Amino acid sequence: MIICTRCGSPNEDAARFCVKCRHKLQSSRVPAGADGGGSWDRLEKLTTRFSEKDRTELLRMAEACGYSMVVVATIVFCSFYGDWRPLYAVMVLVALVAWYRKL
Ligand SMILES: [Zn+2]
Repeated sequence: MIICTRCGSPNEDAARFCVKCRHKLQSSRVPAGADGGGSWDRLEKLTTRFSEKDRTELLRMAEACGYSMVVVATIVFCSFYGDWRPLYAVMVLVALVAWYRKL
């Protein structure tokens, strides 16, 4: 039962307007948006945090991928010229950078 806020008449739960004064009835139940909004905000914050972590992870993976590509490019370059000395330098450099970046 819903009590009209304007005239105080009792109305059916399903009624949207007061039977006596036609005033729009406010359901005693909590509207879907009130609590749902709060949990949605929490969920959104959680998703943002997750996606941010994922983004960092992706960037890190892209960075590692870039380093491996540099190594592969150097291997191709070295095998083309038959001189493997630059590879050692690049490997040391990449290893140092990877260690420094904690990959
Ligand atoms: Zn009323």
